[in-house]
Amino acid sequence: MAYDYDLFVIGAGSGGVRASRIAATHGARVGICEDYRVGGTCVIRGCVPKKLLVYGSKFTHEFEDAAAYGWTVPAPSLSWPTLRDNVNKEVDRLNAVYLRLLDGAGVKLHMGRGRLMDRHTIQIGEQTVTADKILVATGGHPVIPSIPGCELAITSNEAFHLPELPKRIAIVGAGYIAVEFAGIFNGLGVHVDLVLRRDRVLRGFDEECRTAVHDSLKESGIKMRTETEIGRIVKKGENGPYEIHTPLGGMFETDLVMYATGRAPNTKGIGLEKVGVQLDKAGAVAVDEWSKTTAENIWAVGDVTDRINLTPVAIMEGHCFADTEFGNKPRKADHRTVPSAVFCQPEMANVGLTEEEARRTLGELRIFTAAFRPMKYTLSGRHQRTFMKLIVEAATDKVVGAHMVGDDAAELIQGLAVAIKAGATKAHFDATVGIHPTAGEEFVTMRTARADTTPTRAAAE
Ligand code: FAD
Ligand code: NDP
Repeated sequence: MAYDYDLFVIGAGSGGVRASRIAATHGARVGICEDYRVGGTCVIRGCVPKKLLVYGSKFTHEFEDAAAYGWTVPAPSLSWPTLRDNVNKEVDRLNAVYLRLLDGAGVKLHMGRGRLMDRHTIQIGEQTVTADKILVATGGHPVIPSIPGCELAITSNEAFHLPELPKRIAIVGAGYIAVEFAGIFNGLGVHVDLVLRRDRVLRGFDEECRTAVHDSLKESGIKMRTETEIGRIVKKGENGPYEIHTPLGGMFETDLVMYATGRAPNTKGIGLEKVGVQLDKAGAVAVDEWSKTTAENIWAVGDVTDRINLTPVAIMEGHCFADTEFGNKPRKADHRTVPSAVFCQPEMANVGLTEEEARRTLGELRIFTAAFRPMKYTLSGRHQRTFMKLIVEAATDKVVGAHMVGDDAAELIQGLAVAIKAGATKAHFDATVGIHPTAGEEFVTMRTARADTTPTRAAAE
């Protein structure tokens, strides 16, 4: 049977756009649909606008530190509408770039919500198209726990469009988005209450790094409401304020409530069950190592599969799929040693195993750490420290993990990720000459393993 397309992609975000463009350059006839804005979460309401807001919010620290370097800075003031609108203009520019990329590659865009009618037929609004192969790349959406008053809360989606900045905000959660937005709002001069149900932020990351981030957030003036559950949210007037009530009778007031309590895959209402695409226990599309679903001609990539929910991973999965199915170059996405960063302030980045994972899965370890005040703050006296850690497998001398909390951590760890992916040993790090004076040189000058992890001679031999 002749289909309209060789490939039809549902969702024009990071994974879907990459897969469709690469498949088209391999000669496939490709269609794609999008029900919001081409570019997806990362470009429209994720990584890009978030990072621009991080930049915007960091000026506060620069103004504060400038005096020690001899500058007199008049009392700075922020125009939120200017920052917000400039960020959204950049999002519009990138959206246009993505539209041109699709067009340039010969991918036909159908604006509207896609739904599978059968294994080869997709309905988009009034239109129906057919395709030989189908890729589901529908991403995810924020999830808010159901409590009385939860409808009053915003999520990161709305944070980019606030008509005005609140004086106070309560951010619920302790993952990537919560700590990143806590830093943003704090830097913009908003009083931040970070409400988390455990004792520390960023569960799952290296324990020492989590502690370093937690302490830095507290030091920066964010009110850390640890081990706090929220029972209900009550609006007091037309435009707030809001009362946040805990189940144990506690209460505090704020002007805006933002939930950052995780995201769920977009799998509802797109006909997946009807065509035999199975979901896993968490509701994500179940795929094999080729990103293939349980239906013969249907694949899925990115957040909808809930593997590692990061843009470069969605892009890698989409690219591998297109090369395999349309480029005669079979390759699987490699989910090992994926670096990541949390753009809190100071930021945290890592690649490879945490100390806790290494202890669980490897034998003897040597662990190297450095903690210091960055040179920039020696004059200004800012209470901000940098923390670095290298985890080395004693038996092989391989560096199996690198972690950093401090300015430019993401930029630094990206470079180290190449070395670690290539299998660098601690001896390679030791043989590398530093660049002076930088924070990064610490990674190649750490010589003494933490005492509790230094193998005895007998153990090392
Ligand atoms: P998406 O980019 O979400 O694209 C899915 C697209 O499908 C969307 O455009 C959606 O509108 C569309 N869609 C859904 N259903 C349908 C349908 N039925 N029909 C048609 N279209 C549909 N990752 C990083 O690596 N670094 C960061 O700094 C970072 N920051 C983030 C900040 C925030 C606030 C958020 C929310 C996420 C962030 N992420 C970051 C995660 C990153 O955005 C995602 O991992 C990435 O966008 C996933 O790509 P995707 O292609 O799977 O899905
Ligand atoms: P995360 O999964 O990172 O964090 C969710 C947080 O919400 C956790 O702290 C969790 O606590 C908490 N939580 C969950 N349920 C509840 C509840 N019922 N009550 C109170 N707290 C709750 O999700 P995010 O929404 O922050 O981000 C989603 C994903 O997007 C990330 O995992 C990441 O993959 C991606 N992302 C990446 C970024 C980057 O690369 N810089 C930036 C932003 C997002 P607990 O730990 O106790 O379970």
